[in-house]
Amino acid sequence: MPVYKNIEELLAYALKNKLIQPCDVTRARNALFELLNLDGARRAPAHNAPPPQDPSEILADISFYAAQEGLLPMDTATYREIFETAAMAIFTKRPDEVIKNFFDALKKSGAKKATGGFYKYCQKLYYIKTDRVAKNLRWKTATPYGNMDITINLSKPEKDPKEIALHGKMPISDGAYPKCLLCKENEGFAGNLNHPARQNLRLRPLKLNGGKWYFQYSPYVYYNEHCIVLSEQHRPMKITAETFKNLLDFVEMFPHYFLGSNADLPVVGGSILNHDHYQGGRYAFALEKAGSVKNFKIKKFAGVSFDILRWPMSALRLRGNKKSVAAAAARVLAVWQKYDDIAVNIRHATGKTQHNTITPVARFKNGKYEMDLVLRNNRADDKHPWGIFHTRPQRHNIKRENIGLIEVLGMAILPGRLKTEMAQIAALMAKGEQEKMAELSSLAQHYNWVNSFIDNYKGFKPAQAEEILLREMGRTFAASLADCGVFKHDAAGKAAFLRFINKL
Ligand SMILES: [Zn+2]
Repeated sequence: MPVYKNIEELLAYALKNKLIQPCDVTRARNALFELLNLDGARRAPAHNAPPPQDPSEILADISFYAAQEGLLPMDTATYREIFETAAMAIFTKRPDEVIKNFFDALKKSGAKKATGGFYKYCQKLYYIKTDRVAKNLRWKTATPYGNMDITINLSKPEKDPKEIALHGKMPISDGAYPKCLLCKENEGFAGNLNHPARQNLRLRPLKLNGGKWYFQYSPYVYYNEHCIVLSEQHRPMKITAETFKNLLDFVEMFPHYFLGSNADLPVVGGSILNHDHYQGGRYAFALEKAGSVKNFKIKKFAGVSFDILRWPMSALRLRGNKKSVAAAAARVLAVWQKYDDIAVNIRHATGKTQHNTITPVARFKNGKYEMDLVLRNNRADDKHPWGIFHTRPQRHNIKRENIGLIEVLGMAILPGRLKTEMAQIAALMAKGEQEKMAELSSLAQHYNWVNSFIDNYKGFKPAQAEEILLREMGRTFAASLADCGVFKHDAAGKAAFLRFINKL
């Protein structure tokens, strides 16, 4: 039976990647027989061919067999994934061993090697789904604010901001276990229709500012070593003075990583508001490279250097020692949370509903602590039902979702539908038939967008159509970041930014 061959292939993969030792092979093989309800009598000879880079194809064959044999409740993608994760769980070390290996590596070789080793381990376990991430389209677009990273996400569905807002307000149900995707109880969880399998997830405990946190990698990494730091308790996102201390404590331990937090309010926050968490990694985004528009000091924080950054959103950079940067960031937050400037439509609250918040990002660079604070406001009015500082409707054909931390950093995560739609538009443009978009239901939403730039490319060659669309998608992303900026780049906006600085 081919499934016996698949089992030997998977064992060979695990051996080659040191997920198991030769002495573990018999135990692992028997565990796979049990999972697949096989008696082992007709087992295949040991596999000698070189195993593949990632185990996705072998796992797909194994879960196909399981579906055929009625070992799954139903043959769906979710049940197959649960089954494949159960197979990889057989090769996953217990948390105590994983944690010990991490701290041994930390002591012996330092933070860079320790995190790098843990990252590779999560990839080999197929917890990080490298093959699916590779399907995402990625490119860079030059903008006046630097080179933006643009990604078309082909591994996750697009989320509606209103749905996300509703989710944040949902009471924590006593019945759900784990309560959410970020709870520590996900470690080893078998999975069900509503909740993904996490048997090959491993967490590493952390102490930040005296509190208990856990470190893990994202299964769908958007950039190198994309990690998540989650609070031990399932409690809502909250940006406070403590947040800055937590972020700075982390980058002190892992100076080769940045760590940031999504804002804590709907529309301007990330997709998960009900569990306090941060995201970080080993990647230099455009925001990190942003230059200064204006440098200034504040008397009370003499050791801290402040910069307004050349960035489409309204961003400040604080640099100095850990303690004073945390204190200065807390000051900016406290002032911003109560700040109104009616001339530029900023109101910090409506009744008791708070609108002003911050998306913070911490780094350790050139011997100093850095904290970027991006000012956010989520107020909506009759004219701007999606939000006054949200992507304008004329850009919703490209980006409709919340501008969360990763976008604030300069990486667009665009919906998967754009891959086909842009290919269709490029084909029409190559024939000079872009006017036909108006008649096609799937492309009509892009009609005005294409017409807004097509005249700038007079006489383009058919082969350039795709390149033009990629560039314009990048520029549209930068414009959508500027939409979210609370202080615009015009004279009124610049003056308003200075008024805010004076308040500090
Ligand atoms: Zn949770």
